[in-house]
Amino acid sequence: SQQRLKDRIALVTGASSGIGEATALELARQGAKVAIVARRRERLEALSRQLESLGAEPLVLVADLSDEHQAQRVVKDTEAHYGRLDILVNNAGVMYLEPVAEADLGRWRRMLELNVLGLIASTQAALAGMRARRDGHIVNVSSVAGRFANPNGGGYSATKFGVVAFSEALRREVYKDNIRVTVIEPGMVATELREHIAHAPTREMVEGWTTGMRQLQSQDVAEVIAFCVSRPAHVNINEVLMRPTDQE
Ligand code: NDP
Repeated sequence: SQQRLKDRIALVTGASSGIGEATALELARQGAKVAIVARRRERLEALSRQLESLGAEPLVLVADLSDEHQAQRVVKDTEAHYGRLDILVNNAGVMYLEPVAEADLGRWRRMLELNVLGLIASTQAALAGMRARRDGHIVNVSSVAGRFANPNGGGYSATKFGVVAFSEALRREVYKDNIRVTVIEPGMVATELREHIAHAPTREMVEGWTTGMRQLQSQDVAEVIAFCVSRPAHVNINEVLMRPTDQE
C-alpha cells in the first residue's frame, strides 16, 4: 500500500473496537505510527500486536476519556513518547438511546462527558503542540445523528450535534495555524455500539432498522478518515456525511 502517512504520528481514541480499531489499522497500513486508547486493555494489546506487525510502533494507553484529565493525559503521553502528535482521531463514543421522559440522566451525563467533554479536552491538549509546529489534523467522529435528530435519540443527538458545532468553531479558530479539522458523520455502521443501549424497546427498534440492510463496515469509515488525513497540506476536508446505500 502507498505510504502516504509515513512519519506521521496519530492517536486514535476508542480503538479497542469498531471504527477506531479499523482506523488505527488503516492509518498504520498507510505508514503512520499509532497510539491507541480505550478502557479495555486486552483488546488494545491484541490490536497492538497487529499494529506492531505493520511497523506502526504502537503505544497502548488505557484511559477513561469521560474524565477530562485522562483525556488530556493521553495526548501528553503520546507527545512524550513520539516527540509530537500530528493526527488526533477523536472517535471514542457511546450511544444511549431512550425517550426523554424515561431517560436515565446519570447515563446521559456519562454520554455527554465522553462524547463531548472528553473530545474537547483531548483537542485542547493537542493544540499547543500543533500550533507550535504549525501542523496538525483533528478528526472528530460525529454521526448522521449529529445532523438529523430522531425520537429516542435526543441525548445522543445533543452530543453529536455538539461535536459538529464544536468542530466548526474549532476550525475557524485554528485554520490560520495550519491545523485542519474534519468531522465525520456516518450512518449505520455494524459495530458493538448499539449493544450498550439499556432501553430494551429502543434497542430492538434499532436492531429492526438494520434487518436486511447492507450496513457500513468499520473499514468503510476508516478508509474515509485515512483519505481525509492523507490529503496535501492545503486541502482541508471539513465534513463527511456518509450512509449505507440502503439507509433512508
Ligand atoms: P464501538 O462500541 O465498537 O466503539 C466505541 C469505542 O469507544 C470503543 O473502543 C470503546 O472502548 C470506546 N469507549 C467507550 N467508552 C469509553 C470511555 N469512557 N473511555 C474511553 N474509551 C471509551 O462503536 P463504534 O465503533 O460504532 O463507535 C465509534 C464512534 O463512532 C462513536 O463516537 C460513535 O458515536 C460513532 N458512530 C457510530 C455509528 C454506528 O452506527 N456504529 C454511526 C455514527 C457514528 P472501551 O469500551 O474499551 O473503553
